[in-house]
Amino acid sequence: MTREFILGVDLDGVCGDHATAFKYVVAAERGVDPGSIPDQQTWDFTEWGLDRAGFEELHRRAVLEHRMFRSMPVITGCAESLWRLSDAGVSIRIITHRLYTNWGHSVAVSDTVEWLDANSIPYRDLCFMGEKADVAAHAYIDDAPHNVRALRSVGASVLTFSQPYNLEVEGPRAQGWVDAEQWVLDEILHTGRSVAAPLQLSTDPISRLGSPLAHGGELGYDTDSGH
Ligand SMILES: [Mg+2]
Repeated sequence: MTREFILGVDLDGVCGDHATAFKYVVAAERGVDPGSIPDQQTWDFTEWGLDRAGFEELHRRAVLEHRMFRSMPVITGCAESLWRLSDAGVSIRIITHRLYTNWGHSVAVSDTVEWLDANSIPYRDLCFMGEKADVAAHAYIDDAPHNVRALRSVGASVLTFSQPYNLEVEGPRAQGWVDAEQWVLDEILHTGRSVAAPLQLSTDPISRLGSPLAHGGELGYDTDSGH
């Protein structure tokens, strides 16, 4: 057994506040105040009156014109928890399905990498793929009900990052990154590994990438919810 513990971490809805970012895009495109649009409650955005074609067109504009993957708010505590886990010996493998369309790959990938740096999120691997089990992590954190179920169906250990659209999913669930960090530490111990003692560093972990928050959000997000 390899001693390294690999944590598979989803981006949208786990590290990045996709629901808020996309709501601001919808508001901008409709010329209305974001506050007039309800929070996302369902996976397919039916509360925003979007059918599949409507979603796909707005999503394309969100990525290519509003540069949503570059400006998305980070979910509260994400970078701090991932740095602590990284310092504890966890190898962080980001896994995202952001290339599921056949357009805009250059923007999607480059904005994703820029966003990770701008928000000081540590990672060793960055995987753009839908079949998350194929990356062979020891544990996963995801918010999408279909991903959680698919991973569990092949025996993977998965934590559901709680969002309004996944409340029916059973099993371990985190209300935020405090919960998620503790679950990962417990998972490490369950596999018979030990957790490395924290490094005694003089710098704030999330400043170690040397990149202050570069984008406050071109869409001018007003959020303190972190979700
Ligand atoms: Mg997600």
